[in-house]
Amino acid sequence: MEKIYDVIIPGGGLAGLCLSVQLKRAKPDISILILESMDTVAPTAAHKVGESTVELATHYMREVLDLKGYLEEHELPKQGLRFFFPTKTKQDISERVEFGPHNRLKVPSHQLDRGTLENYLMKHTQTLGTEIIMGARAKAVEFGPETHTVTYGKDGADVTVTAKWVADATGRGSLLKRKMKFQKEMDHAVNAAWWRLRGEIDINDWSENKEWVNYLEPKIRYLATVHFMDKGYWLWVIPLGSHNTSIGIVADPAIHPFETYNTYEKALTWMEKNEPLAYRMLKPLGEGDGLMDFRILKHFAHDSGRLYSADRWGVTGEAGAFLDPLYSPGSDFIAMNNTWLSDLILRNLDGEDITIRASIYEEAHKAHLENWVPIYQNKYPLMGSAQIMIFNICWDWAIYWGVPCLLFTNKGFTNLKVAKELFAADDSLGRQFGRLNKIMQDLFRAWLPYETELFSNIYVDCFDVECVRHLQLDMEIQYEPKQLVEKIKMNIELLEKVAAQMFRLISHKAKGTSLTMNVDPYAISLTQANDEQHAKGMPYDAMIADDLSKIWFTKDKVMA
Ligand SMILES: Cc1cc2nc3c(=O)[nH]c(=O)nc-3n(C[C@H](O)[C@H](O)[C@H](O)COP(=O)(O)OP(=O)(O)OC[C@H]3O[C@@H](n4cnc5c(N)ncnc54)[C@H](O)[C@@H]3O)c2cc1C
Repeated sequence: MEKIYDVIIPGGGLAGLCLSVQLKRAKPDISILILESMDTVAPTAAHKVGESTVELATHYMREVLDLKGYLEEHELPKQGLRFFFPTKTKQDISERVEFGPHNRLKVPSHQLDRGTLENYLMKHTQTLGTEIIMGARAKAVEFGPETHTVTYGKDGADVTVTAKWVADATGRGSLLKRKMKFQKEMDHAVNAAWWRLRGEIDINDWSENKEWVNYLEPKIRYLATVHFMDKGYWLWVIPLGSHNTSIGIVADPAIHPFETYNTYEKALTWMEKNEPLAYRMLKPLGEGDGLMDFRILKHFAHDSGRLYSADRWGVTGEAGAFLDPLYSPGSDFIAMNNTWLSDLILRNLDGEDITIRASIYEEAHKAHLENWVPIYQNKYPLMGSAQIMIFNICWDWAIYWGVPCLLFTNKGFTNLKVAKELFAADDSLGRQFGRLNKIMQDLFRAWLPYETELFSNIYVDCFDVECVRHLQLDMEIQYEPKQLVEKIKMNIELLEKVAAQMFRLISHKAKGTSLTMNVDPYAISLTQANDEQHAKGMPYDAMIADDLSKIWFTKDKVMA
């Protein structure tokens, strides 16, 4: 008799492989078949883009998938995100405003060689009992009341396999999205080109300035995801555990047309103009066999109308939605997708009715994505302004650690009571959080015409801001569900104070309003900034003001 799998996963990339490991860890006897269209193992370094992880995905890989041992042995520990903002010539890295941690970070994250990782995951999940067919391109899915069939092509023939569940992890292949026509546009136009260079590149070697070179512990700059930023773009440098280096350009086409960097030769010319030091340092390394690959992707942001169904199917990873690689949320979304999807699969296989959960998880996913969108939309024009970006990035980290990370590390994503408290009503905490974030992202955009100063020779560390540093450290603490909601509430109250103080500084500089005025964080707007409008708002908080002064270049003296 034909075998009926519990789950068929078309697509054996990061999302599909991680989903299989997650399911196997929770239910070792679950039967899983992965269909992967590639027919050979992945090459080292030059495989897929997406090498940098942040805290949520790291927690997922280390703790939920139990990959801590593998990650520590074969991949690099990451030392945060590091940003360099423009000076007039951008020739001397030591003069640029540098934003990144001074010290090694306590909360782990990793730089991944995607080839090494995916090859390991394939072997690992097979050891756990997952079956994988390589060279198998899934072509069609037919849904039935009890089982679904998937037809795949291999070696010129079509084969049909059957399962209770189908979890689409085909990335941009988007098998189910295409079949069921739930493609959805994402209003965010950004393009990218990336390439891998043979060998290690340490930007710490890019300056003769001894003070700058010795300012940080060795390797802290090397192990970071480095961003060289200016108006309309960022250029990344990421070290890989295979001792190679990933380089990429991500840019807004309204400012940097794709045609100016969509071949390797053009990317060099683009760098010569926009990042002359990187050009000088990287060009020689791409000569001979130094250049391992060169890839491009135009308008990569996309959304998905559906994600999880009680009819026993779901989508995960890039087969669903993808927004922007800044801050590396790709693997975070894989972690969230897989956590919701595996919870639905496991409950359904146990005989539970998952109708309500499937729709709550889909709504929760959409709400999270919706909160993420304003972080990126129309933000590329701001990237040349060090002061705006440093406030913006600090804010983005604070909200990220304070809410989604904390929820994820505390299993809040699949706790219906927590989800209800956070998202059910219009005035619920989660929705309030979304409103506050949107207001702040609008503020950063509105600030641009007022912030024209070009700064240099400044080093800023977001982890000097105590309240933000604690939000990161606290995401590792485990709470009971009731305490978790309380902690989220406290974090949102803290974020309101941070928002109010950022607004005081910005509005004072842009509009001359008082540095100690009351601020209603939900009425923040630079276009209507005046002291009276906020009369009933939050009072000035000297501790938060002192904390945020560490990332504010204009040293206004506040007489409280
Ligand atoms: C420029 C850029 C930079 C990025 N940087 C980062 C980063 O630093 N950190 C991060 O976390 N994320 C990053 N991302 C996102 C990251 O690349 C994706 O989140 C991730 O690769 C998605 O994994 P996936 O498994 O969903 O898709 P994929 O990795 O594309 O895997 C899909 C798999 O499905 C297979 N397949 C496709 N169609 C079929 C079919 N019909 N049948 C069978 N198999 C099929 C493919 O061969 C592939 O192996 C970046 C994205 C871009 C565009």
